[in-house]
Amino acid sequence: MIATRFAPSPTGYLHIGGLRTALYSYLWARKNGGEFRLRIEDTDQKRHNETALEAIFDAFSWVGLQYDGEVVFQSGRADIYQKYIDQLLDSGKAYYCYKTKEQLAHDREQARQRKQTFRYDETWRPQLGKVLPPIPKDIKPVVRIKAPKTGQIVVHDVVKGDVSFQAGEVDDFIIARDSGEATYNFVVAIDDATMGISDVIRGDDHLSNTPKQIVIYEAMGFDIPKFAHIPMIHNKNGKKLSKRDGAVDVMDYKRQGILPEALLNFLVRLGWSHGDQEIFTIDEMIELFDPKNINSSSSSFNEEKLLWLNSHYIKHSDTDRLVDELKSLGTNIENFKNKTALIDLCKQRASTTTQLRQSVKDILNSPKEYEPKGVKKFIKDSTADMLKSFVQLLKDHKESINTAQDIEAITKPFIVENDLKFPQIFQPIRLALTGKTTAPAVYDMIYILGVDETIDRIQKAVAHNFEA
Ligand code: GLU
Repeated sequence: MIATRFAPSPTGYLHIGGLRTALYSYLWARKNGGEFRLRIEDTDQKRHNETALEAIFDAFSWVGLQYDGEVVFQSGRADIYQKYIDQLLDSGKAYYCYKTKEQLAHDREQARQRKQTFRYDETWRPQLGKVLPPIPKDIKPVVRIKAPKTGQIVVHDVVKGDVSFQAGEVDDFIIARDSGEATYNFVVAIDDATMGISDVIRGDDHLSNTPKQIVIYEAMGFDIPKFAHIPMIHNKNGKKLSKRDGAVDVMDYKRQGILPEALLNFLVRLGWSHGDQEIFTIDEMIELFDPKNINSSSSSFNEEKLLWLNSHYIKHSDTDRLVDELKSLGTNIENFKNKTALIDLCKQRASTTTQLRQSVKDILNSPKEYEPKGVKKFIKDSTADMLKSFVQLLKDHKESINTAQDIEAITKPFIVENDLKFPQIFQPIRLALTGKTTAPAVYDMIYILGVDETIDRIQKAVAHNFEA
């Protein structure tokens, strides 16, 4: 069975790159009818940091990624790690090392002076016929694994191809500290093996850890999983995406008014492609995703593309969905009579749900002030009379107005009879209805607001001479 996992360290928020890794792992598991597991890498912490965990769970639930089985917390698995460390010690594949931190610091300094990479000198590595030094008193040992001394360690990577490391590059590294606590690469390898993970999909910042993890798999006699190391996401300048480039916290995108399906669509394409298709539903992603097609070079974050995708998903969302989104942003239009027409009008021009909310509010709230630049440009001496006649026109036809087209049908002849240019009538109406000249189509707005409200707003604007 295919089993993948996402293994975040609880840092306080879910990084956008982490979500991409999670998505790829999720898609591959779902495509194969396998399992997608969640593991929290919290060994560094004395206790769970609840807020940091919630940040991960909140982000998962917002985007709708569902994991299988129980969440695995590394902080609760010390006994399991101890069991495997004991096994390696018993089978002679690991050994105690009594070198002190001071001695190691000294060795490290010497290597630095010789301009060599530091490697543990194997003082305590047992070997046939070798006499080990006497065990010093009062020193708690660390546990080191016997790493291979010759040959190569090859990572067969689905994205990068075969990546070879000389065995000499990996020394007898520590798998348990003098406190007894297991080290990072050890616990990752033990977890992946004992959780039955078949495919490890993760950022390529972990590629350099992989040979060590392979040494552990081999020492334990575990099957080595398939690896897919994904290139990092870069900013426009080709540097690793960081907080300085804007939002890296997944939930910031929610706050900015990005829909989760747009974010997932954006992320799936950030480093993976299927022909030149840009729009993918989650089901299509599941059907088409294959780690083999992950780009081997880094991808760059393109905010315009995210906004383009988001406006696509906003346009294709139905009224109920967008009404819910607006409600979560604090604007409730559930009981507004013409909510579908209002949403349909505003969603055409919105790249984010926060913009959508703004245009909805611009229409629903009677203006408190009139944009002075627009007033100066479009409100002339003759405007008040023209608007009064327009109000009369609306009054006369009130009973027969049922659609935006009905309003258009009576307005067009009015424009011709009064010899008006479009901006001469539409901009004053926009200003009267919303206080702005950038508002959407006038006929739609009048229909949405209703004739009475429209008349009210126009009369108020005229009475105040377009002043706040
Ligand atoms: N905990 C690691 C991280 O957050 C991921 C480890 C892994 O995927 O093997 O970067």
